[in-house]
This record gives sequence, C-alpha cells and structure tokens, in this order.
Amino acid sequence: MKSEVRSQKPENGNRKVNTQTFGFRFSVFWLLTVVFCLLCSAFGLGCGKTAVTGKPKLPADLANRFNAERAWHDMERVVGFGPRPSGSEALTHTAAYIMEQLRAASLQVEEEAFTTNTPRGPIAFKNIIARTRPDCPPRFIIAGHYDTKWFPKIKFVGANDGGSSTAALLEIARVLAGQPVDAWIVWFDGEEAIQEYSEKDGLVGSTHLVRRLFAEKKLGQIQAVVILDMVGDKRFQLTLPKPERWSAPVRQQALIAAATLGLRDYAMLLNYPMVDDHSPFDWNHVPAIDLIDFDYGNIPHQNNFWHTELDTLDKCSPTSLRIASQIALELVRRLEYYKWPMK
Ligand SMILES: [Zn+2]
Repeated sequence: MKSEVRSQKPENGNRKVNTQTFGFRFSVFWLLTVVFCLLCSAFGLGCGKTAVTGKPKLPADLANRFNAERAWHDMERVVGFGPRPSGSEALTHTAAYIMEQLRAASLQVEEEAFTTNTPRGPIAFKNIIARTRPDCPPRFIIAGHYDTKWFPKIKFVGANDGGSSTAALLEIARVLAGQPVDAWIVWFDGEEAIQEYSEKDGLVGSTHLVRRLFAEKKLGQIQAVVILDMVGDKRFQLTLPKPERWSAPVRQQALIAAATLGLRDYAMLLNYPMVDDHSPFDWNHVPAIDLIDFDYGNIPHQNNFWHTELDTLDKCSPTSLRIASQIALELVRRLEYYKWPMK
C-alpha cells in the first residue's frame, strides 16, 4: 500500500503583522495557553500525555457497562433499513441513525465524505467518526464497517456482516462517551469489495482514513486499532487472524482481556492473515487487530451464511454482540496502561 503525502500551503503567506503589539499579544497568548493546559491537566481533560498529575484510569467495570439489549435494538433498526451497499439511500438512512444516536450520547461527530472511482463508477462514500474528547487525535481507533456487500440479484440485508459491527460500535461509543481516553469510534463505508479486493476495490473507508491520518502526521500516534466485523453469529467464536509482527502484542493482550472476562474460550487463533479494515493500518505499521468470527453458518467450518440471503437477524444474538464488544473494551482498558506508543 502506498500512501501519499499531501503538500501543505504556507499558512502565514503575505499577512502583515503589527510588530509593536505582536510581542505583547504573543506573551498573553502563551500565558493563557499555559494556564489553560495546567487546568486541563489538573482535571485530566487534555489529549494524550498532556496530563501532568497522572493519567486517569478507565474504570475497572468498563466492559460490564455494555448494554447488549440496547445494541440489539440498534441492530434491528439498522437491518430494518434493508440492503445497505455504499451509495444507497438505505445507507444514508443508516448514517443518519448512527449520527442521531451519537449526538444523543453527547459525542463529537464528524462525517468524512468523499467520492472515489469504483468498478461500478464513482460512488459517494461517508465514514462516520465519533470522538470521546473533542478535537483530540486518536490514540485508539475502534471501528468496523456499516456498508453491506452489493448483490444485484439477491436481497442481502447483512445482519451479521455490516449490521453487527454497526450496532456493537454504537453501544461501545455510548460506553466510552466521556471517558478519559482519546478514542475514535469509526464506522467505515466501502469495506466490501464490489468485485474483488484490490487497490481500487474494497477497504475504501479505512484506506481513506489511513491516508488522511498519515498526511496529518497522526498515524504514528495511534497505539492500537481494534476492528469488529461479523460479531453477531449465534454460534460465536472469534477467529483472530495471524497478525503482523508489530500487531502481535495487541492480539496477545486481546487474549488476556478475554481471559480476564472469562471469555477466553470464544477466541481462536488462526495461523494465516486476513484482509479486512484492520489491513490498511497493519500494512502501515500501526498495531491492529480484527475481532472477527469468520465461520458463520450451521455447518462447522463452512461459513455458509456469509454473503448469502441467510445472513439475517434470526442467525444472530445479543450475547455475541456483548462478548465481542466486552473483549474490545477490556482490551482498550488494558492497553491504556502500556507505554505510549506501543512500538
Ligand atoms: Zn462481507
């Protein structure tokens, strides 16, 4: 994967400065800034490492605050919009629902809209980003996709593949709202390939965000990216793909997080990698994990409900949303203690 560096315009151009008052204003500006930062630090409000009085800790019962019934209700609402491929009206309704819920939880919300050429021609995509603390760069990104794969000949509502991640993330966002952690919760558009995964097809939203964070020099500040995908299957078991070297500690910590919650039996390790929304981060040396259950069906190891009309709500359960989300939340809580950045 190649990422491009965006050229930056000089900011102060030809602007004239009144040199007599500049020095005074400059001092007052810095004085106010320092006072503001000290106040922020004292109350634990600053971004990243700015707190000088010690970092506030995430509460020990963070994972238990996940409300599975509320997440299930979100999932029913989202699946009720019908097939939700990128660029569709149903996905616009889904985006509106996500944003309405985030605003109700008092989270800062950003819509990241852009148009990209695809095998179906240009499509308008939209990532949705919720921040736990206004204007702070992300130390953690917890994300998943909210689009469903485009199937012109079948009615594919993607209860598990698209719906489960959308709903789990909404409840995770509610749990993290107001917590002392710089987390971005992101709903990616365009995860699904229209034909086949390639540089020009699939992972559109996650690739777009990686390029943007690279250009803004924020990519290296990310401690970990946690992706949730297909986390609704009633017969739930995470199949954690083989990580890159720099992501291996995150997978290790995810197992410890699962064990801490008594959920270790729900996590199985694969000895091969997978392509998903964690990949653009992983390929750019950002530690990332894909919490995915890629064995979705009624015949073991056949994954026979995946990308079929059978991916419906009756194959899913609120308990599965809870297990995956609790592991994600406990993982973030554990990583919060680690050296920053963890590389
Ligand atoms: Zn899919």
